[in-house]
Amino acid sequence: MSKRAYNFNAGPAALPLAVLERAQAEFVDFRDSGMSIMEMSHRGAIYESVHNEAQERLLSLLGNPKGYKVLFMQGGASTQFAMIPMNFISAGQVGSYVMTGSWADKAFKEAKLAGGAHVAATSADKKFLAIPELSTITAADNAAYLHVTSNETIEGTQYAEFPDSGSIPLIADMSSDILSRSFDVNQFGLIYAGAQKNLGPSGVTVVIAKEELIAESPSTIPTILRYDTHYKNNSLYNTPPSYSIYMVNEVLKWIEEQGGLAGIEAKNRDKAGLLYNHIDGSDGFFRGVAEPSSRSIMNVTFRMQSEDLEKQFVKAAELEGFVGLKGHRSVGGLRASIYNAVPYESVKALSDFMNHFQKTQG
Ligand SMILES: *Cc1c(COP(=O)(O)O)cnc(C)c1O
Repeated sequence: MSKRAYNFNAGPAALPLAVLERAQAEFVDFRDSGMSIMEMSHRGAIYESVHNEAQERLLSLLGNPKGYKVLFMQGGASTQFAMIPMNFISAGQVGSYVMTGSWADKAFKEAKLAGGAHVAATSADKKFLAIPELSTITAADNAAYLHVTSNETIEGTQYAEFPDSGSIPLIADMSSDILSRSFDVNQFGLIYAGAQKNLGPSGVTVVIAKEELIAESPSTIPTILRYDTHYKNNSLYNTPPSYSIYMVNEVLKWIEEQGGLAGIEAKNRDKAGLLYNHIDGSDGFFRGVAEPSSRSIMNVTFRMQSEDLEKQFVKAAELEGFVGLKGHRSVGGLRASIYNAVPYESVKALSDFMNHFQKTQG
C-alpha cells in the first residue's frame, strides 16, 4: 500500500485507517449477504440492524442519557441551521444565538429568515478569536432556544464549558468537535453534527435530541423538514444515506476501542498540547490565532510573519506529505485540523517539520 498522507483536512477529514480497512474487507460482500451494504434495501433486517446499532452505540458513548433519540438526517449541518428555527420558533418567539464566528453566523442568518433571531452574546469585538464569557450570554425573554457553536472550525475556537440556559433548550452545532471530549448531554435539548469531521464520511448528519422536543412539530412546514417525521419513522421516512451511516457505526466502534470519550479526549489533548506548545515556543516564528483560553483542540489556527512565508510553508509541507494546512479562504493563515482520527504520529511529524522549516527558513 502507498504511504498515507499526513491529513490535516478540515472536512471531509481523516478517517481511522482501521475503519477504512474494515470497510474495505466487507465492501463487496456484507455479512455473507452476497452484496454490498450499499446494494441492499434500507427496509431489510441487515441494514436495519446496522442503523439501530449506530444509534445505540452513539447513546452508549454519551452515557445513555434518558429521553434522547438519535436521528440520521441529510443536507448537512446547513440544513439543521434552517430546520431548527422552522421547527422550534413559534409566533412571537426568537432563536437566541451566541455569535462566535463563521458557522454561528450562518446558523443565525437562517433563524432571521425563518422566524426571528436574537444575539445572546458576541465576540465580534475580539474578531471572533475568543468565546464570549459564559456570564455575558443571555437568551432573550422570548427565546425558543439558545444556540451555540461548540467549536468554530474556521477561527479555531472552542467552548471550554457550556452556558447554563435554564429552562430554555440549549442547542449546539457540534459538527467539528462531537465525540472529541467528555461532556454532559443532559445540558442540551438538541445537538447536531455533520458527520464528515469527527464521525465518518459526508452524507449523514447526526442529531441527538430530547424526545419531547422532536416528537411533535408544526404541521405547517414541509414533511421532510419536520423533526417529528424523522422521529416517528426512526430516520427511515425516506431512503437514508445507508453507507455513510454504516461508516459512522464503524467509527463509533473505533472510538469505543480508544477508551470512549475519556480515552479519545486524553489523546486529543496530547495532540493539541504538542502543537500549541510548539507554536508558543517558536519565538514568534509561528503564533496562535485564537485567545489561549478559547483555543480549539480540533482546529489549530496559526500564522507566520507574512503571507508569503505562509505560502512557502504550505508548499514545502505538501512536498513532505502534509495535506490541508492552508487556513480557510475567509480568514487566511494556517490551520491544522486534528480531529479524532488524526494520529499522534501525524501531529508529531508536523511539529518536527515546523521545527525544520524554522531552522532552514527562519
Ligand atoms: C463544517 C461545519 C458546518 C457545515 O456542515 P455541512 O455538513 O457542510 O452543512 C457547520 N457547522 C460547523 C461548526 C462546521 O464545522
